[in-house]
Amino acid sequence: MKIGFIGLGNMGAPMAANLVAARHGVTGFDVSARPESLTIAATAAEAARDADVVITMLPNGDILRSVAAEVIPTMQKGAVLLDCSTVDVQSARDVAAQADAAGLMAVDAPVSGGIGGASAGTLTFMAGGPQEAFAKVNPLFDIMGQKAVHCGEAGAGQAAKICNNMILGITMIGTCEAFALADKLGLDRQKMFDVVSTSSGYSWSMNAYCPAPGIGPQSPADNDYQPGFAAELMLKDLRLSQQAAEVADADTPMGQLAQALYAQFVEQEDGKGRDFSAMLPRFETRKRG
Ligand code: NAD
Repeated sequence: MKIGFIGLGNMGAPMAANLVAARHGVTGFDVSARPESLTIAATAAEAARDADVVITMLPNGDILRSVAAEVIPTMQKGAVLLDCSTVDVQSARDVAAQADAAGLMAVDAPVSGGIGGASAGTLTFMAGGPQEAFAKVNPLFDIMGQKAVHCGEAGAGQAAKICNNMILGITMIGTCEAFALADKLGLDRQKMFDVVSTSSGYSWSMNAYCPAPGIGPQSPADNDYQPGFAAELMLKDLRLSQQAAEVADADTPMGQLAQALYAQFVEQEDGKGRDFSAMLPRFETRKRG
């Protein structure tokens, strides 16, 4: 396939490199990054012009909207605009409607798996859009990831992503505060892990990404909390979840509290640039009240 790839940052560059390694013709564009593994176009429109699929991997919904407005008029009829960024549900729906009006198909397919998953080609994609478009891009999901779930119509991928990450933010905070409480109760961390990871308190945060250094599988906690998944990205996703909850009139008190805690951690404490599991050393140093 001929692929245009727009947004070649931490995630986009390794995803594009995996497509090149699988012998797809990839032309990339980014306003600042210029990875050597790809042919680079002078503009986003040029990268998109003859492509069968245009993939975007961008920071937010506003940037997605502006890039989509630039590339949609140049794309060939029947081509697919595949956005893998994490953006608000409304931006995904609006971009899909514009693509549809121009005779194109759109898929929103945000990812789970982080930079490690992007490099290893083991991302999970959660996709929204027409079945025909999903079928067309599915072989690309197989290259860049290990699992793709077609979640429904336009915006459904973003909806799945922010619901998943709202659970993740909440469970990570719960896991970290429980470790900090266990410390103060004199409970050995390894024993705490041995019990919880095989009891009803288990979760991905505990079992697969344990926030306590030296306990459980290798995780960012074992690497001085270098991300991994940065606390500011968790904050971004929690904000998107609460923005969606506002619009949908959904009651999400735990999501709201998780957003407030990550905002405090990133904007007023030392959380920026640290993994989101660095909530554990944060709780360790705090007292009640
Ligand atoms: P990043 O900031 O490293 O990359 C974004 C790239 O987009 C940058 O290189 C930037 O120069 C480029 N860009 C910005 N405006 C542009 C424009 N108008 N035209 C072309 N390029 C433009 O971010 P990232 O970590 O690669 O994340 C990308 C997306 O993936 C985000 O939506 C993020 O929420 C999501 N995501 C990231 C992770 C992660 O662990 N990093 C995990 C899951 C999802």
